[in-house]
Amino acid sequence: MHQLTLAEIARGLADKKFSSEELTKTLLARIAQLDPQLNSFITLTEDLALEQAKAADVRRANGETGALLGAPIGHKDLFCTLGVRTSCGSKMLDNFKAPYDATVVAKLAAAGAVSLGKTNMDEFAMGSANESSYYGAVKNPWNLEHVPGGSSGGSAAAVAARLLPAATGTDTGGSIRQPAALTNLTGLKPTYGRVSRWGMIAYASSLDQGGPLARTAEDCAILLQGMAGFDPQDSTSIDEPVPDFSANLNGSLQGLRIGVPKEFFSEGLDARIAELVHNSIKALEKLGAVIKPISLPNMQHAIPAYYVIAPAEASSNLSRFDGVRFGHRCEDPKDLTDLYKRSRAEGFGPEVQRRILVGAYALSAGYYDAYYLQAQKIRRLIKNDFMTAFNEVDIILGPTTPNPAWKIGAKNSDPVSAYLEDVYTITANLAGLPGLSMPAGFVDGLPVGVQLFAPYFQEGRLLNVAHQYQLNTDWHTRSPAGF
Ligand code: GLN
Repeated sequence: MHQLTLAEIARGLADKKFSSEELTKTLLARIAQLDPQLNSFITLTEDLALEQAKAADVRRANGETGALLGAPIGHKDLFCTLGVRTSCGSKMLDNFKAPYDATVVAKLAAAGAVSLGKTNMDEFAMGSANESSYYGAVKNPWNLEHVPGGSSGGSAAAVAARLLPAATGTDTGGSIRQPAALTNLTGLKPTYGRVSRWGMIAYASSLDQGGPLARTAEDCAILLQGMAGFDPQDSTSIDEPVPDFSANLNGSLQGLRIGVPKEFFSEGLDARIAELVHNSIKALEKLGAVIKPISLPNMQHAIPAYYVIAPAEASSNLSRFDGVRFGHRCEDPKDLTDLYKRSRAEGFGPEVQRRILVGAYALSAGYYDAYYLQAQKIRRLIKNDFMTAFNEVDIILGPTTPNPAWKIGAKNSDPVSAYLEDVYTITANLAGLPGLSMPAGFVDGLPVGVQLFAPYFQEGRLLNVAHQYQLNTDWHTRSPAGF
């Protein structure tokens, strides 16, 4: 049963082959047996899950239908969940039980999804390896000595290991697409504003976006359907109609114009990954797509701009964690300043502290113009590059990451080398565009992803292309040995 995709689960539940309760129990047992190897969960919510599963079975018995009704999922541990610890991977929030459900959590629960637990993540979603979690590193099920990617690494590892059919993630600079690539999953970062950020603990508010991680594009369509939509509680949510993603997966790719930016194949890209990306281009050409070389001339400035903007916003967002209202508080503070200083020094790990320092520096009076303002200008140039490209092409394609998953600990002494792994993903966040990563092959037994970008609100186009690709390739069906 654990091998089933969301789409297969929906059919099995509709045909009464099994109940949601049976499926939930099977997966909970599997998690208990296998997750100690992976560390993909921070909190399991068995009781809540069984309650939700039984309720979904009753709803189905009463004639209700729906692709998510009774489907087991997990939530990245930065989506606030009523009465459940929502830690954001940090000691700071180890004792925080959310007093309300994030919109994403509430919407999926209303659709009948069954939440098995909260998945591990990089602390405050800062990282590309899931090594900065207060709850310990997550292991990649394809090779337990390697990272699963981050920051949604717990969601990715759990889905890749068939502990869950799908899970939520968030993507500020690649944190859905990069772990999807490194664990052989399909992951989609929607257009900024498509999925509500209400109750999603903020890292960098102008870049953060929630989205689905699953094995197939078909399943991403199902999960995204449950997550997307206008939310008056989020002032950046966009009131744009949500199409039926599942109904639009079978469009023909005949004549689809795919732009391939030359900047995505520069030095730094593992040659074996470049070859797999070229193979995926050939597969799409066979389906009728037309390839056009394009250029995104400002891409080289994306990493420096992102690593100013994201820490700047983080330093502001994280100022609320001061030991006063919620979160970790130090013992016996001498005075208010001591309370702030020690609560924050004890509650935040080294990567989070590094980002707060960088961000506060970039925003400080003497440097704001030189760093933050400059980075915002670069952001506009990058967006303009995409707009120019989308005048000529329907989709942009490239690698998701320059390298396959690295060994746990390999980049610990050099944070910048980890930042460089985001080179192909962060442009979508800077421009607010939707992006998708899908399995494209293996290097040394480790999965590799190919990435697609589309114009604003064209998630359906990404899912359509990925689904057609997956009907004609079998990379996404491979599962890691031992799981
Ligand atoms: N690796 C990037 C960072 O550390 C992206 C993280 C994310 O998307 N949440 O900021």
